[in-house]
Amino acid sequence: MTKAPAPLPSAGKLWLVGAGPGDPDLLTLRAARLIESADLIVHDGLVGEGVLALIPARVERISVAKQRSRHTMKQESINDLLVRETRAGKQVVRLKGGDPFIFGRGGEELDAAREAGIACEVVPGITAAAGCAAQAGLPLTHREDASAVSFVAGQCKDLTDQDWSGLAGHGRTLVIYMGLATAPAIADKLIADGVSPGLPVAVVERGTSADARVLRTLLADLGDLVAREKVQSPALIIVGKVAARADALDCLGAPGAFSSIRDFSCDF
Ligand code: SAH
Repeated sequence: MTKAPAPLPSAGKLWLVGAGPGDPDLLTLRAARLIESADLIVHDGLVGEGVLALIPARVERISVAKQRSRHTMKQESINDLLVRETRAGKQVVRLKGGDPFIFGRGGEELDAAREAGIACEVVPGITAAAGCAAQAGLPLTHREDASAVSFVAGQCKDLTDQDWSGLAGHGRTLVIYMGLATAPAIADKLIADGVSPGLPVAVVERGTSADARVLRTLLADLGDLVAREKVQSPALIIVGKVAARADALDCLGAPGAFSSIRDFSCDF
């Protein structure tokens, strides 16, 4: 197979960059360097304020975040924008919350770049699961509690079609991204699949930010907890025995009834 010619040094390049879960201290050095040197930064709504504050004034910036007045820019329009600006010779940084390849549509943007024949490099970021787990003191794996961890997307589309059987339960940790709106359905789905309703669950809201909240309950109470505590996006749901290790508020039963999860006979 003949190798494609290397792009000229002066040619534009697209960088798909993970901005981490919010706290700018959790940027990689490479991400921080690229933010400094970019010609254009195209970012979404999940990128933390502190990270956006690092963008120098001379760097052009486009937000493709969802705003009240308009819908999110369609993925094809974002792809077109990235390709067009890179072809124009710019160093384009596509800045995304967390890691570009974990529920970040980075795969689609990389496909678009490959198809267009533009140079593209991916810079990994700390995904929400790692950031939230660290902040909550909740190890996603633990020699005693979990030897496997899975990341799933809990948004409405196709939730019932998704096969999560075997992903939660004994010895496993299940991390659910985008699961707030469907939290009750998620709990029902897991319990219907045979997962114990007494399995601990942690919900981490705005993980890694100064006003983060870590709440904990049992699986059967997950939907009620989210409603009762008015949990806001972004939030991550972590299901598994490891959740009992988190530094968290326990929210079992009535509002304000915080107590130790170990007071309950959890059948997990
Ligand atoms: N690419 C991102 C995920 C994008 S999907 C990553 O790797 O982290 C968006 C979902 O990520 C949110 O709905 C939420 O479930 C989760 N998320 C992102 N940042 C978060 C944060 N700071 N705290 C809690 N959850 C977060």
